[in-house]
Amino acid sequence: MDCLIKDALVVDGTGAPPRAADIGVAGDRIVALEPGLGAFARRVVDARGLVAAPGLIDIHTHSDMSLLLDGRAQSKVSQGVTTDVTGNCGFSPFPIDPARLELHQDLMAGIGDDPQALEWTDLEGYRRAAERRGLAMNAAPLVGHGALRIAVMGVSTAEPDAPQLQALCALLERMLDQGAFGMTTGLTYVPSRYAPTSELLALCRVLQRRGRLYATHARDRDPTGADHKLGPLNEALHLGRETGVRVQYSHAAINTPSDWGTAGRWTRHFDGAVAEGLDAGFDVYPYDASSSALTQYLPPWVVEGGVAAMRARLQDEATLRRAEADLLQGWSAQRIPWLWDRFVLARTDGLLGTVEGQTLEQAAAAAGVSPGRLVLLLCREGGNGVMVVLFYRTEADMLTFLTHPHCVMGSDGSALCFDQGSRRPHPRNFGASVRVLGRFVRERGDLDLATAVAKMSGRVAERLRLTDRGRIAVGQAADLVLFDPDEVADRATYLRPAQQAVGVRHVWVNGVRVLEDGELNGARPGRVLRAA
Ligand SMILES: [Zn+2]
Repeated sequence: MDCLIKDALVVDGTGAPPRAADIGVAGDRIVALEPGLGAFARRVVDARGLVAAPGLIDIHTHSDMSLLLDGRAQSKVSQGVTTDVTGNCGFSPFPIDPARLELHQDLMAGIGDDPQALEWTDLEGYRRAAERRGLAMNAAPLVGHGALRIAVMGVSTAEPDAPQLQALCALLERMLDQGAFGMTTGLTYVPSRYAPTSELLALCRVLQRRGRLYATHARDRDPTGADHKLGPLNEALHLGRETGVRVQYSHAAINTPSDWGTAGRWTRHFDGAVAEGLDAGFDVYPYDASSSALTQYLPPWVVEGGVAAMRARLQDEATLRRAEADLLQGWSAQRIPWLWDRFVLARTDGLLGTVEGQTLEQAAAAAGVSPGRLVLLLCREGGNGVMVVLFYRTEADMLTFLTHPHCVMGSDGSALCFDQGSRRPHPRNFGASVRVLGRFVRERGDLDLATAVAKMSGRVAERLRLTDRGRIAVGQAADLVLFDPDEVADRATYLRPAQQAVGVRHVWVNGVRVLEDGELNGARPGRVLRAA
């Protein structure tokens, strides 16, 4: 054995109760699991008082480009996360049509990274680039419908004609051949939002035939117009019913203040579909604030045609005035009221004299313009790169989701470094996983430890059909984390997000240690995984 972990309290990722055991690792696999292993090993790690869990799998991340920018993956590895599922909300850095590079770059700006050359066209090319640069953790890629649609039809608002639909399906199939675990939509973003349900049905049929996952950031309206509250969920369930595809509903939330407290209605509706036999799950991140590109909150006509079109449109004073009047009616199709002190600037890089950490109210006062005008000017000047944090949720609703049997944890964050300069990315990037273990298991007792770990490992692997990760068992990949259950906690706050979690002692990725005694060691054993 290369490594023997002695006297750990093993929480194996299945939800089974903790038990004391030793864990033997050889190469990149777990080869032994029993109490009192007497075997010889090159290295012995004393795990007395520590919990051994499978390396955590984060089902909802946007690490696609951040992992390439900085393969150390500090914010994730330091929490014990060993696999990030990428490509969510319709954003993925493949497939790429080189003739539409600028549209692809605008799309990827929306997940909050500095612009990068996209030097490949497909998943194989992306995988080669990522593994050449070296990754501390694994990535399990999904293909984003936004990228797929740009590659086939740009940012057209039209329905695909028959040859275009065929091209979308063929390109999806090619990405699945290259190992993508499924496809995601971002149905409030350009251009994924332009897809009619019929287009999604055709793509979900491909996914179903290949046994892959459909993950969806749902619309902000019901395409059938029947039920504005449950309509977006209904569309996802409809796709599952019609095609048999496995559905993952991304980052469940109640964002409309007048609906706060109704998460139970949502989960009951969901339960009804599962009871009918649908293979459906959902995920949530453990905060009462969300984060996104500011452009997402503009009236649809303002962003139509993509960033360049929006910029050109907003040069004109009369159009700016009309856009502001429309914007003031509220954001999203549900016209949620703008509460300017609930929007915090997370990333502007000083654009228009703004300071990250200011609310829109404060920044507008400092700039001497109305908050609505400031929103439009920031979007005009910064495109999709301006990021905000929004306090439009309640912890009670979040907990209704998190504690639900069909819910797993997905951070919606990225693998980032601790040096964020003046930027204040959402603390979920640095603390989501350990926040579950610290705040919601130890401090509040909302979840027991075994269930919480399963929601961040074994159950996630099941959703992905990732058969050799997510559990501690002989034959599984040696992705492991050792943490102190009395100490594990997040330290990331909204004002100081880039802070390392505490209580995580050792992390292995593919049998190689990447965190030793709480210190990141710079090893890069990660891979871009392939769906079987
Ligand atoms: Zn999303």
